[in-house]
Amino acid sequence: MTPLLLASACLLIVTLGYGSLCAGSPYGDCRRCHGMGHAIKRTRSGALKRGKDCRRCHGHGKRLRIGRRLYNLWLRIYREGQTDAPKPAARPFAKKG
Ligand SMILES: [Zn+2]
Repeated sequence: MTPLLLASACLLIVTLGYGSLCAGSPYGDCRRCHGMGHAIKRTRSGALKRGKDCRRCHGHGKRLRIGRRLYNLWLRIYREGQTDAPKPAARPFAKKG
């Protein structure tokens, strides 16, 4: 097996693995707060205490994976490009204006 074939096989395996990860689990832990959703503070007596909510994930502790974000972008562009598909019905409870 040539090294070029081996390298392309490894790239294909990594790409398919990441694609299946994004399909099966589209949300990953926030990298800033490690999935906690908030910081951990230490009080003056040394006890641990909940800190402020994470500003990056807004306290959820989860983030959308990059692969899933790219897939969602592709899907949105694909759906907007369809000219023969009927328009989705107006959302009855959406804000006006
Ligand atoms: Zn966070």
